[in-house]
Amino acid sequence: MDILLLGPPGAGKGTQGAILAEDLGIPKFATGDLLRDAVKRGTPLGSKAKEVMEAGGLVSDEIILGIIRDELAKPEARGGVIFDGVVRTIPQAEGMANILGELGRQIDHVLYFEVTDDEIRQRLDNRRTVEGRADDDPDAIIRRLAAYREQTAPVIEWYAARGGVTTINAIGVVDEIAVKVRAAIGHA
Ligand code: AMP
Repeated sequence: MDILLLGPPGAGKGTQGAILAEDLGIPKFATGDLLRDAVKRGTPLGSKAKEVMEAGGLVSDEIILGIIRDELAKPEARGGVIFDGVVRTIPQAEGMANILGELGRQIDHVLYFEVTDDEIRQRLDNRRTVEGRADDDPDAIIRRLAAYREQTAPVIEWYAARGGVTTINAIGVVDEIAVKVRAAIGHA
């Protein structure tokens, strides 16, 4: 089963994706985690992505689609993947559909994690003190939210027009949200 998690930064996609991955026994894959690791290790991919990530912008569609293709070629991805924050533009959604299509697959569930802007700001501010992420600083947060609104929010409509999106109210206790997520994919 291939599941796509959409929603603004700080919506809880990572937390809920990890719970779901454990429940379903399939891997969770986050382009943000892979890119952060590449930056930390100073790989060629990391040096290409570092500046734009720290500024709160989006890495190019070409780079992201290359990463998705590599990830889906791994044996552990054969039984399905939980994609966390992996599709952030319409060209990425189209590219992902093509790559999965070549494998005879498609996204089975699109879950949109809905939270208010105030809640996002509070959560990211809190995460900055806990994780020390450079892109959780107030200026970068403003730019990340702008990138989300301009480029990622339209992706929700793109999927809504092609099979549907389930909106999860993502404010509240982690366990309660996890129950809603399981119900949304029929794994209650
Ligand atoms: P995240 O941890 O998901 O918030 O991602 C951290 C940063 O990595 C984002 O602010 C972007 O700069 C970059 N990034 C992660 N995934 C993508 C994607 N699918 N498309 C473009 N940029 C991405």
